[in-house]
Amino acid sequence: MAPRSSFLRARPVVSAKSRVVGVRSRRTKLAIDAKRIVLLGPPGVGKGTQAALLSKVLGIPVISTGNLLRKEVADGTELGKKAGYYMNKGDMAPDDLVEKIVLRQLKEKKKFILDGFPRNTRQAKKLGKTTPIDAVVELQAPYDELERRVGGRWLCSDKKCATIHNAELDEKAISKGACKKCGGELSQREDDKKIAERLVTYENETKPLTKFYQNIDRIHKLIPATGSPNKVFLRIIMALQKKQAR
Ligand SMILES: [Zn+2]
Repeated sequence: MAPRSSFLRARPVVSAKSRVVGVRSRRTKLAIDAKRIVLLGPPGVGKGTQAALLSKVLGIPVISTGNLLRKEVADGTELGKKAGYYMNKGDMAPDDLVEKIVLRQLKEKKKFILDGFPRNTRQAKKLGKTTPIDAVVELQAPYDELERRVGGRWLCSDKKCATIHNAELDEKAISKGACKKCGGELSQREDDKKIAERLVTYENETKPLTKFYQNIDRIHKLIPATGSPNKVFLRIIMALQKKQAR
């Protein structure tokens, strides 16, 4: 029973009031040494939410490709100027440029939760040459469920309201095209409309990373991402702790 008690002691709790995840006591120490973590998972799986929770509990910053690009642009470096040119037009910066920026900035970081990189095996190889990785957390959910979840998401256009509607729960409001709370117009994000396409890209380009990381001793953790965000989070914490117990 001993291994279980160590997990219970360090069990993260969610305060209903603030909805902020914290650890039960300041003295509680999570037995997690992983400081350089890669988060993988298909669009709509809840990576952003889990990255934020992990960051809060472990005290490790989330590094997303977007953050790194914006920093480089703000710093006015040569690479930043190039990236800014695309971003100002509303385009994606080319892959090789993104890679250069991400890898250069990661080299100097001792702890991070990486979200949105690597996207393919080539990038993963380059990442491995740049910095050691302690853990790869891959969130997994059935694609059809993700497609339903994201493709069925309708947003109130009223900025203050911004209520998210769900195709299955809010069928009526969606067929009327009006927000159930304020009557505001409902629309879908361009990104969400393309969910099927994005999932195919993920399957073809990013999913091979599962094998890639499974071949590296013990760093890969496959986490079922169904159920509430808190449940998923506990699974991640448990998986990261197990590594330390060995
Ligand atoms: Zn509304």
